[in-house]
Amino acid sequence: MPKERLYLFDTTLRDGAQTTGVDFSLEDKRRIVRALDELGIDYIEGGYPGANPTDTQLFSSEQSLACATFTAFGMTKRAGRSVANDPGFQATLEARAGAICLVAKAWDYHVRVALGITNEENLQGVAQSVEAIRQAPPAREAMIDCEHFFDGYKDNRSYALAVAKTAHRAGARWVVLCDTNGGTLPHEIAEIVAEVVREIPGAQVGIHTHNDTENAVANALAAVRAGARQIQGALNGLGERCGNANLTSLIPTLLLKQEFAERFQIGVTPERLRRLTQVSRVLDEILNRAPNRHAPYVGEAAFATKAGIHASAILKEPATYEHVPPESVGNRRRVLVSDQAGKSNLIFELERLGIPIPRSDERVSRLLEEVKAREALGYAYEAAEASFELLARRLLGEVPQFFTVDSFRVMVEKRHNALGRLVTVSEATVKVFIDGGEEPLWSVAEGNGPVHALDQALRKDLGRYQNVIRDVELVDYKVRILTGGTEAVTRVLVESRDKGTGERWFTVGVSSNIVDASFEALIDSITYKLLKAGARA
Ligand SMILES: [Zn+2]
Repeated sequence: MPKERLYLFDTTLRDGAQTTGVDFSLEDKRRIVRALDELGIDYIEGGYPGANPTDTQLFSSEQSLACATFTAFGMTKRAGRSVANDPGFQATLEARAGAICLVAKAWDYHVRVALGITNEENLQGVAQSVEAIRQAPPAREAMIDCEHFFDGYKDNRSYALAVAKTAHRAGARWVVLCDTNGGTLPHEIAEIVAEVVREIPGAQVGIHTHNDTENAVANALAAVRAGARQIQGALNGLGERCGNANLTSLIPTLLLKQEFAERFQIGVTPERLRRLTQVSRVLDEILNRAPNRHAPYVGEAAFATKAGIHASAILKEPATYEHVPPESVGNRRRVLVSDQAGKSNLIFELERLGIPIPRSDERVSRLLEEVKAREALGYAYEAAEASFELLARRLLGEVPQFFTVDSFRVMVEKRHNALGRLVTVSEATVKVFIDGGEEPLWSVAEGNGPVHALDQALRKDLGRYQNVIRDVELVDYKVRILTGGTEAVTRVLVESRDKGTGERWFTVGVSSNIVDASFEALIDSITYKLLKAGARA
């Protein structure tokens, strides 16, 4: 039986851009458009031309896309004005886009309160706006987002339906049903969509859901099962409040879960699906935020197993504890090194890091003992893979002594500055020997705290290694006080990034002294970078 086509509509750059703290630049938007196009998304909503300079510029030139239809967002024409006399609407019409998606009120309560017009005027506006898009060259698809459709339907069923039917009759390619407030539940979505597709062919009905009850993905799937054939959502579930339906979760579900995979075809192929994890990380990188470790399919923890018995079962037969193969979405299996880890975990982890070693090698037992002893001191390697790799490679004699820190000193001073203001100044001095040389290098740096000053001083001059670490920066710094026993121990987790390659890594340090613990993690971070860059001592 031929599969039915299901269309994916991405709104990361429009609805997703409503997220608090998200502000895409023109370059950001272009980069995301490329990534979405390569993934196989059908419609990419770029923004709202005329509403802000970035979006106006984005829509001023043609996008060269391989498969996606670039889509502009706008509003239906204003009441009391003709299409030609509505500058906002004209700006939407001028957009260089293959499709235009207009938002229309579908709840009579909003028509009355927000627009202050009659129900009939609103219907006329919808019809005239769709017709205007169809008549204005070049040929473009028109879509109507029926705002508050589900709440409107529950309040005034016939009016919500009238808005949807008006858009359809006027020639809209898609009539999109929006759960704008995100409060509708999956069984309600299923019932209402099933009724709508009796009036409008499902092949022209779309679904737009929000995650306010953690059901945005479930709601989109319920709508598809009820007959809708276009899904709107955003990468990583970006969007205002609790976000939009998460396309990063929806796409693999549609491709890998039998019920959907057998019935539907989407633009994303199984080959392209392997890029999903990377696309998700690219978005986080652009937003400069740490990826959600627990994100379904693409999170670092999505295929992570901790307990020893599970780990040995996974090595024998991965399907025992995994709902889909991690490689199918470009993710990977992680068997966490932890207190409960047995030899299987360790060997698996070493293999993954590219350190093949036979189970019988006595160094495996020594490493396991070492990990356990260090975990007892407060080290945690689950979140600090780079430090774990260094530990393992040191034991195998693979980590050169690039440099040694002979001594360091940190000073924190509170004093009045030249303007008479009370300021706190941190200054660090580090004495380093490179390659076991005789001549020490002294570096002094200031920072906005003792750890920052130390980091600056340490990275200021590493002699001939300076080029390799030039782009390394400290991204995140977490301090955990571990109590127990007579004195508190501090564990510091440092996240570093190479600005050039975008690579991120985590290192750990433990000490009763917070500065000591931080310094240990910083040294691991730099050593890891030098090792990975293939620097030779
Ligand atoms: Zn929305």
